[in-house]
Amino acid sequence: MTTYEEWRDRAARITPRRELFIDGWFTPAADGGTFATVGPRDGRELAQVSAATETDVDRAVRAARTAFEDGRWAGASPRHRKEVLLRLSALIRENLEELALLETLDVGKPIGESLRVDVPSAAACLQWYAEAIDKAYDEIAPTGPDALALITREPLGVVGAVVPWNYPLIITAWKIAPALAMGNSVVLKPAEQSSLSALRLAELASEAGLPDGVLNVVPGLGPVAGAALGLHPGVDKIAFTGSTETGHRFLEYAARSKGKEVSLELGGKSPQVVLADAEDLSAAASAVAWGIFYNAGQTCNAGSRLLADARVMDDLLAEVVKVAEGIQPGDPLDPATQMGAIVDQAQLDRVLGYVALGREEGGQVITGGDRVRADSGGYFVAPTVLRDVRNDARVAQEEIFGPVLTATAFTSEEEAVRLANDTRYGLAASVWTRRLGTAHRVARALRAGTVWVNTFDASDVITPFGGFKDSGSGRDKSLHALDAYSALKTTWIHLGDS
Ligand code: NAD
Repeated sequence: MTTYEEWRDRAARITPRRELFIDGWFTPAADGGTFATVGPRDGRELAQVSAATETDVDRAVRAARTAFEDGRWAGASPRHRKEVLLRLSALIRENLEELALLETLDVGKPIGESLRVDVPSAAACLQWYAEAIDKAYDEIAPTGPDALALITREPLGVVGAVVPWNYPLIITAWKIAPALAMGNSVVLKPAEQSSLSALRLAELASEAGLPDGVLNVVPGLGPVAGAALGLHPGVDKIAFTGSTETGHRFLEYAARSKGKEVSLELGGKSPQVVLADAEDLSAAASAVAWGIFYNAGQTCNAGSRLLADARVMDDLLAEVVKVAEGIQPGDPLDPATQMGAIVDQAQLDRVLGYVALGREEGGQVITGGDRVRADSGGYFVAPTVLRDVRNDARVAQEEIFGPVLTATAFTSEEEAVRLANDTRYGLAASVWTRRLGTAHRVARALRAGTVWVNTFDASDVITPFGGFKDSGSGRDKSLHALDAYSALKTTWIHLGDS
């Protein structure tokens, strides 16, 4: 196993790709502009990355359009496309350590997580959609004896994928794997905090045999490169993951360009509902704690609101605090670290601002609440629990995106469901109970794209993921995601001679 010292040594020597990847080539931005990507573990600049301008995005979209229209990918046999994506998946696995290091340096997540979860999940996602390519059969509709109607699945054309920084490789894979599987070309805009792994991925895709122009990567600032992609008339579909505010901008961009399709995976404020009859309170407490503290709370479906029956709240919180205090934020390059850094200074300020607000709103900080390891120069916050939070408090309603759990008590199942649903979001939720009927009843009543029963954050590429309400529209993962990157065509053939 690679040691802490070895990771630090490798980190000091790594020279990541930092230019735009357009039409199979790394290239600087048209105006030579760059932006800094900063390492959250020490606050130091990692690299200057090329900042795509409108001109560069236009070039990338044109390359993707040409690649789509000449059929170099969409027209290739399903078997060939499958082989290329399987090779890409294998190359991701072969380059596990390098990709994990890039991810950890760029976004501050523990190296153990990048190695165990982020990189393997991205590889598995590409493999799964590669395997799906030659299993997505077309259909023949039963139109009667004088006609044959073929229903075929066609790629949409050029997909613009715009992704956030919290799981750069995983979310990129959720977009590009079904998009490429269906034969589309892609222009990917990573978040400005996390461009490095996407650029390496593009290089690996090329090595795997993906033709030039089929996958282009244009790092850059959201309001410049992201907006240019959203507004570009040559883009047929935008697949966006990020904040609800930015997601809504993409709907405006689409309306202002030519009404392109838009799917949105947005924010969340997921409740973890613990009923009085939850079987094993300490198992529930551990899941509740990791449901918020995993990835330092920078997870769209983070279980940021604990809703517990007033009769078990004190015991449960005692256990949650025990788990929280056992998690020491540490250097993400240390394989022993369980919780890493907050992605940047702005996000750190935002998280600490919310803790202060929570206090003003009457919440009581029972553990954490402060920045830690400040002498490292990195952005670390201790796992934090705020109790006695009213559900209408801003800390219970707004996405904090940090390791901050709010706790609110209820006294009946009806109240639990009402509080759980009383938010603009609807991405995920969990319910802890021993009774089967209660589990189904509550799960059915919760307005969320994913509901976990007696667990949290279980996931697999075979299950759809997405939100209700302001958490978005459309679904990533599963066979259903193929629908988001293809259109059905009916070809009606008259069988008579005249
Ligand atoms: P963000 O909305 O700030 O940025 C997301 C992407 O949009 C980035 O690539 C960014 O550069 C781009 N962007 C920003 N402003 C833009 C603009 N004006 N025009 C065009 N593009 C613009 O989100 P973030 O801070 O990177 O990520 C955190 C958010 O993502 C959280 O709200 C989180 O809940 C959400 N998220 C959702 C899911 C999900 O599947 N539902 C998954 C992960 C993260």
